[in-house]
Amino acid sequence: MGGVQNYDYDFIIIGSGFGGSVSALRLAQKGYKVLVIEKGKWFNAEDFPKSNWNLRRWLWAPLMKFHGFFKVTLFRHVTTLSGVGVGGGSLVYANTLPIPKKTFFESETWAHLADWEKELSSFYQTALKMMGTQRNPVLKTGDLALKQLAEEIGQADQYEPTDVAVYFGEPDVTVADPYHGGEGPDRTGCTFCAGCMVGCRFNAKNSLDKNYLYLAQKQGATIKAETEVYDVLPINGENGKAGYRVKWRSSMKIVKKKGELAAQNIIFAGGALGTIKLLLKLKKKSLPHISDRIGMGIRTNSESLIGITTFDKDTVFSEGVAIGSIVHTGNDSHLEPVRYPAGSGFWRPLMSPLVHGQNAFIRILKVIADYLRHPVDNLRAYFVSDWAKKTQILMFMQTINSTLRFSKGLFGMKTSITKGERPTSFIPEAKILANKYAKIVNGKATALITETLLGIPTTAHILGGATMGKDESEGVIDKNNRVFGYENMFICDGSTLSANPGVNPSLTILALSERAMSKIPEKNGKLKPAMTN
Ligand SMILES: Cc1cc2nc3c(=O)[nH]c(=O)nc-3n(C[C@H](O)[C@H](O)[C@H](O)COP(=O)(O)OP(=O)(O)OC[C@H]3O[C@@H](n4cnc5c(N)ncnc54)[C@H](O)[C@@H]3O)c2cc1C
Repeated sequence: MGGVQNYDYDFIIIGSGFGGSVSALRLAQKGYKVLVIEKGKWFNAEDFPKSNWNLRRWLWAPLMKFHGFFKVTLFRHVTTLSGVGVGGGSLVYANTLPIPKKTFFESETWAHLADWEKELSSFYQTALKMMGTQRNPVLKTGDLALKQLAEEIGQADQYEPTDVAVYFGEPDVTVADPYHGGEGPDRTGCTFCAGCMVGCRFNAKNSLDKNYLYLAQKQGATIKAETEVYDVLPINGENGKAGYRVKWRSSMKIVKKKGELAAQNIIFAGGALGTIKLLLKLKKKSLPHISDRIGMGIRTNSESLIGITTFDKDTVFSEGVAIGSIVHTGNDSHLEPVRYPAGSGFWRPLMSPLVHGQNAFIRILKVIADYLRHPVDNLRAYFVSDWAKKTQILMFMQTINSTLRFSKGLFGMKTSITKGERPTSFIPEAKILANKYAKIVNGKATALITETLLGIPTTAHILGGATMGKDESEGVIDKNNRVFGYENMFICDGSTLSANPGVNPSLTILALSERAMSKIPEKNGKLKPAMTN
């Protein structure tokens, strides 16, 4: 990191999600002048919608003037769900922060680079602490039903409440920062309204703007929201030795304001969707030395999302934190109940009976057969009074190492299959468990029509695409997140995950980013005064 040049910033970080936020705080603490550029908006508790029917406040679709924080992207092989805004996916996520099992650390795709379990263990602990992670103290209906299921399948000892980044305290009571030695913001106790995924309106969710980003700003970092980076060029046409010019434009206005800034170092942290899309574009012109492996090794958690709608009058699922418990159903598989708050029925019209089948024709026949055999149940499930209250979503996740590839397409990116089976939601184990769960809660299992009819699975965990390797023939970055082919360039986000964690990935993104930042020296050999882990 050298060169004599006038820079606007020592580091520009593109994206303010999990990787970007860790980078911002740790670099600011090390004395660097840091700018975070974020496409989405700043959100305060009062900006979040009450339910996901308030599309303008919930969805991110700027062309339609929807400036919320939840983005749905359709690809040929997968539908992705992600977050947009200051705090990235933490605004919309379900707060669950598990440490993956051994198989993740020992995966052949990256185990030759480091002893990851050992290397990451202290960074996992730092990240858990920074996020104010606590074991969920209150199990609600959906969690208790999962517990019963765990007992029925002989996995009672594999059931546990989740570790979540939520301030519990007294419901709706505000206290001074309980986490960061008084340097953090006030927190308010969780009301268990199940609203985590439509944005926490009670200031209880420890999203990144309440910890890493908040503290980064206190240390001097600047956050430029509603701004999208569209080009990054090495200064003097070199390999980044002399730094980078970063071109930005406003992301929410029809008439785009544009500008350019110079930075000595650059960190891509736009998430797998943002970073890979940008780097695929830049490889064509501005950054041609990016490894040819860019876009390869795209993974999901091989999720299957199934809705169970209960017919019981008194059963209510829309209480608790969004994901309150987990059962490890096998060595490589996990099941979590996921919930929305009362009134959030956006997904209802998109649900159909849960069927599996090799092709669309068979599945359509099975859906019709299900409607004919169970007309009353289907109608009751479809027309329940409040879908979110009556429906427990089950998220099944697996450690399967099938991968996709992102490449440049006509409209942004397209997917193709590279390794193993294509991702599928037709996982027999998931269906068996869902039907057992449906029996427990006297309900009907349903799935998204994109899955049943089109066979396209949905994932909230899109990962990889800028994976690690020993050199550029094997990966896009080295084991310390440095980009091959360029100096002073890093990637810190979910795109760097080089194996399938098999569980919710954000904690691992935090830990990997903490590790990468720990390798960067302090600016003037001096660390700014104590700001916590
Ligand atoms: C509904 C839902 C529930 C989830 N629940 C959980 C959970 O319980 N636990 C868990 O571990 N994970 C969960 N996830 C997944 C989690 O949100 C992601 O894995 C995580 O956010 C990825 O972090 P990241 O650092 O890769 O980037 P992100 O958090 O995706 O942040 C990237 C940011 O970069 C911005 N950006 C992108 N491109 C640009 C650009 N060119 N210029 C400027 N800004 C840009 C984006 O707007 C975004 O804000 C959930 C996801 C969803 C959608």
